[in-house]
Amino acid sequence: MKRLGLARLSAALLLAGAALPVAAQLPAAPAAAPPAQLPPIPAWGGTLEPQDRDERGLWMMSADDEQLIRGSRFVIDDPALNAYVRGVLCKAVGADRCQSVRLYVMRVPVFNASMHPNGMMQIWSGALLRMRGEAELAAVLGHEFAHYERRHSLAGFKQARAATDAALWAAFIPIAGLAVSLGALQGFFIYNQAQEKEADLGGLSFVQRAGYSTAAFADVWERLIAEEDAGRVARGQKPRAGRRSGFFATHPPSAERMTYLRALARQAADTGDPGAASLRAGLGAWFGRFLEDQVKLNDFGGTEWLLADLARRDGWTGQLLSTRGDLYRLRGQDGDMAIAAGLYREALAKGHADPETRRGLGLALLRQGQQAEGQAMLKAYLEAKPDAGDAAMLRMMAGLPSPATAGPTQ
Ligand SMILES: [Zn+2]
Repeated sequence: MKRLGLARLSAALLLAGAALPVAAQLPAAPAAAPPAQLPPIPAWGGTLEPQDRDERGLWMMSADDEQLIRGSRFVIDDPALNAYVRGVLCKAVGADRCQSVRLYVMRVPVFNASMHPNGMMQIWSGALLRMRGEAELAAVLGHEFAHYERRHSLAGFKQARAATDAALWAAFIPIAGLAVSLGALQGFFIYNQAQEKEADLGGLSFVQRAGYSTAAFADVWERLIAEEDAGRVARGQKPRAGRRSGFFATHPPSAERMTYLRALARQAADTGDPGAASLRAGLGAWFGRFLEDQVKLNDFGGTEWLLADLARRDGWTGQLLSTRGDLYRLRGQDGDMAIAAGLYREALAKGHADPETRRGLGLALLRQGQQAEGQAMLKAYLEAKPDAGDAAMLRMMAGLPSPATAGPTQ
């Protein structure tokens, strides 16, 4: 498979949000009735090893993918964040299963998580940003582990290899660019309904045993669907027509699935912990960075929905207000600068001390012709961040002399 250079990785990553061809979806197995309760967790049989020629081939491709991922600049190597996410995984699946996982936290602002058959697991920052609590993170990671433990990607690989349908193979070609970021194998990891249900049940069994809320996975899915629809409506598209991007591409959602996930949570008499406070502490300063990444995605409707959803959890904090200000300022349509300025002012009034809020307010005011106040805001920003990357331009906009003329003369 053709490999692109790292320089083009960024562009390829943007494709990760693009729709996959319909033909790439493997045939769905007939859906069974939901079971009355969550299945027991089987004894762990030890780290998986490839068992036949197909699986050895799959593992070799996985090793290639892992090498690519490991060298990617999108890997977040912050030890604290890695330890936190890994801790949630290990709490969910148990210490024995956890040992077989090599976890990579990727800074990619798209909701996605995946696990290769060789034990490489990825979670993207777009997923971390959207978790309302640790229980949801545990549910998503547990779900991926359940696919892995049941060797679901091998089934997809064999099915694809055996397929005589040229359309199925052709479906992998447009994914080539995307493959750079996800690894070459991502195209195979499109699970059918029966596999999804097995992973749902297996994942929820982990979550329940760990003492987390079992409503978590249904909650994640419902919000993802609502956000995706909001983004589509804002772009003038029909809601519900898509849902083949990111996590949806490999884990197709269905109404039936939501019903049984909800029913199982009720039957399990959900009294578990959502773990919201722990999650926020675990993400630390990364939460703000992931918010910034999200705003730059240029998905106004989806981002508006997401910010409102985060505000439903936390209230409109200064950080969320300032981020929303950025969203309007960067869109820059009629009236957006006034809305942005209002949002930045609200953030400042709430004591939000990030200099970036003053920068945003300054730029929004200057765009509206409010010269004096706009320049004062930029000056305040430059005092806090004299070495900002765009300081030279901002000094000019703020009416300040350039450092060359204002600096020491000796
Ligand atoms: Zn799945």
